[in-house]
Amino acid sequence: MNADISIRDATAGELIESLRHTLAETSAPMIALHEPEFKGREKEYVTDCIETGWVSSLGDYIVRFEQMVAEACGVKHAVATVNGTAALHIALLLAGVKQGDEVLAPALTFIATINAIAYCGAVPHFVDSEMASLGIDAAKLDAYLNTVAERRDDHVVNRKTGRRIAALLPMHTFGHPVDLDAIVALAERWGLPLVEDAAESLGSRYKGRPVGGFGLVGAMSFNGNKIVTTGGGGCVLTNDDMIARRAKHITTTAKHKHNWAFVHDEIGYNYRLPNLNAALGCAQMERLDSFLGRKRALAKKYEASFRNSNTLTFVREPDYATSNYWLNAVLLAPELGASRDLILEATNAAGFGVRPVWTLIPKLEMYADSPRMDLSCAEDIERRLINIPSSPALAGA
Ligand SMILES: *Cc1c(COP(=O)(O)O)cnc(C)c1O
Repeated sequence: MNADISIRDATAGELIESLRHTLAETSAPMIALHEPEFKGREKEYVTDCIETGWVSSLGDYIVRFEQMVAEACGVKHAVATVNGTAALHIALLLAGVKQGDEVLAPALTFIATINAIAYCGAVPHFVDSEMASLGIDAAKLDAYLNTVAERRDDHVVNRKTGRRIAALLPMHTFGHPVDLDAIVALAERWGLPLVEDAAESLGSRYKGRPVGGFGLVGAMSFNGNKIVTTGGGGCVLTNDDMIARRAKHITTTAKHKHNWAFVHDEIGYNYRLPNLNAALGCAQMERLDSFLGRKRALAKKYEASFRNSNTLTFVREPDYATSNYWLNAVLLAPELGASRDLILEATNAAGFGVRPVWTLIPKLEMYADSPRMDLSCAEDIERRLINIPSSPALAGA
């Protein structure tokens, strides 16, 4: 018992020391997990919206922002939305997810991934993670599907529930891409549309190619804590012309283009991103390379700082990837999992805004009855992972 406590205290001390050492140039009393930075033309563009009156659902910044995001993600089309959750909702609808379907999605993710499935009237089917990317383990999922799922003509059925499995929804955790070759091959083998939750991974690359465009449709987030922010915002990403047209149509109340008549041809959504937010986004996108460079520099510093630790392992990008390192993380040694919260408390008390990873979604009341495979790796990550301060400004000069 005494030995356990001393290892725990030593680990908390080591974490605090590493953070102090790595973030030496910052003197704030509390260092946040992630803070936005507005040192480009943000004020100029937002002021322009106010002075011209174009603050709402129409305006040139929306068009420009969509072009900038599409280019950064290497896709033909980006359709701006009011937030990333809305983009995911639309992405799933356009991939054909319907009431009563199941969608394969990670247990270890932010709640938005799974809520978007529920908004479609569908049910999440929880999938385990792998250590290398923290995201979906393609080989384990394939083996599992062989035991529960069955291909019938043009669709896949969960033999246990009788429901159709309608899509595969991987998420690139903290910016680290999942193994997309394996995931794409799996989706093709099972005939499942691939929908990418790229919310955390703007600027991340898989074997040199930006993530977000590997599936039929993808979703991006520009929330205040993401690498680029519009205050709140998102984008639907796709290379498919028809899906892009549909995304624009149903996110803008499904209204026919007309100078004065109100004709809507289906039940659409008011998911538009205001021009005001897009203006902020354009200025932020101009800074993306600077953000990426500094976030990767900070990650390098952290990696060096934890290299010789016996109890703290820095989570580095998978070998095939160039990560945006949106959120840096360390894994506690297995025997320290039970001490995680005490280590979090000591480190926060020392002025560093560190956080645990999300509670696994299937543990939450709303999703307690949803189907799932063995989740042992995700459970292990949940017990041991701690996110550490990651703002680009922390990289120093
Ligand atoms: C941020 C995020 C989203 C979208 O969130 P919004 O706040 O609605 O923009 C979706 N999925 C994941 C994994 C996220 O981290």
